[in-house]
Amino acid sequence: MAEGTTTSTEDAPKPLTPGSSVKHLTGVGPARLKLLNRLGIHTLADLIRHLPARYEDQSAESGIKDLVQDNKTVGSARGVIEATRWQAGQYGRKGRFMATLKDDTGTLSLVWFNAGYLREKLFVGHTLRVQGKCKTFNGYPQMANPKWELLTEQDAETKPARDARLRPVYPTTEGLSAPVLEGLINEALDRVLPTLEDPLPSELTAGHNMPTLAEAFRLIHQPAEADDHKAARRRLAYNELLLLQLGIAMKRAYVINKQVAPALPASVTIDEHIRERFPFELTDSQNKVIAEIAADLANSEPMNRLVQGDVGSGKTVLALYAMLLAVAEKKQAALMAPTELLAEQHHRCISAMLQGTNVRLRLMTGSQSTSGSKERQALLEGIATGTADIVIGTQALVTDAVRFKDLAVAVVDEQHRFGVMQKARLRENDDHDEQGRLRVPHHLVMTATPIPRTLSLTIFGDLDVSTITGKPPGRVPAQNRVVGQDKASEVYDYLKTRLARGEQAYVVVPMIDSSSDTEEGNNAAGLRNVTDTAEMLRKVLGKDYSVAEVHGRLPRDEREQVMAGFRAGESHVLVATTVIEVGVDVPNASVMIIEHAERFGLAQLHQLRGRIGRGASSRRPLCVFISEPTTDDALARMDAIASTNDGFKIAELDLQIRGMGDFFGTRQSGMPPLRVAQIPEDIDLLKLAHIDAGPRIEEDWQLTDPKHARLHKVVHQQYGEALGLIDVG
Ligand code: ADP
Ligand code: MG
Repeated sequence: MAEGTTTSTEDAPKPLTPGSSVKHLTGVGPARLKLLNRLGIHTLADLIRHLPARYEDQSAESGIKDLVQDNKTVGSARGVIEATRWQAGQYGRKGRFMATLKDDTGTLSLVWFNAGYLREKLFVGHTLRVQGKCKTFNGYPQMANPKWELLTEQDAETKPARDARLRPVYPTTEGLSAPVLEGLINEALDRVLPTLEDPLPSELTAGHNMPTLAEAFRLIHQPAEADDHKAARRRLAYNELLLLQLGIAMKRAYVINKQVAPALPASVTIDEHIRERFPFELTDSQNKVIAEIAADLANSEPMNRLVQGDVGSGKTVLALYAMLLAVAEKKQAALMAPTELLAEQHHRCISAMLQGTNVRLRLMTGSQSTSGSKERQALLEGIATGTADIVIGTQALVTDAVRFKDLAVAVVDEQHRFGVMQKARLRENDDHDEQGRLRVPHHLVMTATPIPRTLSLTIFGDLDVSTITGKPPGRVPAQNRVVGQDKASEVYDYLKTRLARGEQAYVVVPMIDSSSDTEEGNNAAGLRNVTDTAEMLRKVLGKDYSVAEVHGRLPRDEREQVMAGFRAGESHVLVATTVIEVGVDVPNASVMIIEHAERFGLAQLHQLRGRIGRGASSRRPLCVFISEPTTDDALARMDAIASTNDGFKIAELDLQIRGMGDFFGTRQSGMPPLRVAQIPEDIDLLKLAHIDAGPRIEEDWQLTDPKHARLHKVVHQQYGEALGLIDVG
């Protein structure tokens, strides 16, 4: 039925569906509607999905005579007010309000202190329900400051005497009282549940001993005992996780069934040729991952692989290996990095490894595109005609203008912003093969922010994951120190000692100059900045050492000069913003000092720290976190960063501190929101859902079988957009 269009005067209650507006509920006028909207509640479905934040234990209602009078046990009773009395105190409204409550079994005396307002609320003849601790006073049972609830005549008839029960406590907003909200939810339940369809096949839910969807909603809002709402919560969480798993499995099946990529088999000769390019022996772990990648690429089923390896574990050569397999087949490859600095560095390092080959390597960045359109035009043409074999670039690669002739391998590097990882697909050419499958490149994503194991089944369910464990030989783990701002000058004094030994150092600060916003974009006056810090260091360190500066606003050629100077050892200290966060690789740099460390995220700090100790050296790298943590989270981050150098542990700790929503930054990541399920707490349910989803999708990957019609609908409704299931059908 169309909403809000009828002006019918008939008394028959309007049939309401989960999608109906809450304005049709009793007592919801424009004002209340606004308040509900403020809570994100628009429809009845929203209302029944507005779950209690917790439950209050409420004792059973008993006859007055049976109240336990030990002044400890909470009891409740109901009766009619027989008498009231106001005893004014010295100061106006302060004073006590007393009432006598009577039921069939006895009389209860009630007293509220400093509650003058009750004079306008409670009157003789009212039916009242009270709850509180009861004691004996002057021979009578008495409750002091009990909670109370007025029952209207109608309530008194319909509201049954209360059993011991858990009362839901809802998140609400000012102006919308708890009882009103609870009443609306209860009305919505009555209207919606009788016709609510359960999207999950009963063989699943019954098999897991779970209530139906309608039962679950009833129990979570109106639990009779604690186990009820736990069982209900479990069902609702499973519901979400199963739909998510189905969506992920569908997406994966879509790739297998509807997409095709060029097979790139690695012959022994090709493999040898590629390995000759590497200036070092690969570690066992790198070899294992290369074998996994090569096996994927040998196939026309598009690869979707994530390589996770801690900072400095040596991921770049893996990307190069995959790209050279494409080149060996006379096809193209692309490598996309998150910053220009990193793209430039990849370009330099890869071009060194390709010295002496005829592989045509190109660099494409944003600043380059403005630096002369002729050059850019030539670049675009080379990409489109296939005279560029490998293109390294930034996000500039994903723009419309870039069309590859025959892209076979697309690598996305250092994508620890997870959503971007999934969306940053290079433009596809809309070509199809004879079987109607879309031609796509193989995708390889590399990250140094490992996915906590507990999350690998959620958003990454459609990726295969390879892990590099360990680091190239000779690496010494960093020594970590967390110190307060008051120790900063000591730290800089000590820096001199390290520089005297021939080491180089990074100093990381949150801002570029005193007038600027942080690189993160939020204004934060009073923080250390590049300009002032460099100035200060020049004074402290004297003329023996040279201090360079780098940040995101520096023009490209200047930035390259600064980086080259630092790499060559011409400058000794590099003061930088977080532009150096990812990828920057200067083996001789072994000291890092991070100012205002409390302002950075845990993953970010770990990334930054990964810039030092990259050379095989006997020197122990040192990372100093100067910080003034003022929140519990910041404290926890400082503890965590100092406690371990293991990126996997850092990721787990980060997840614990931030919770999943913030870990992903749900909005920007495109991570489907989970309302009930909690990761990692519900990891067992997640595994269960994963196991349950698999066979269903194997049997019917688009969920087109009529028996899956309801499932199909809800999967698309809830996760279609987040997972990009639009093409899946
Ligand atoms: P990340 O995983 O952080 O991207 P890189 O690929 O930048 O790491 O590698 C870090 C450093 O280790 C680079 O200087 C690289 O040349 C070097 N490296 C990589 N693999 C090896 C290896 N097997 N043996 C020695 N050095 C290596
Ligand atoms: Mg890297």
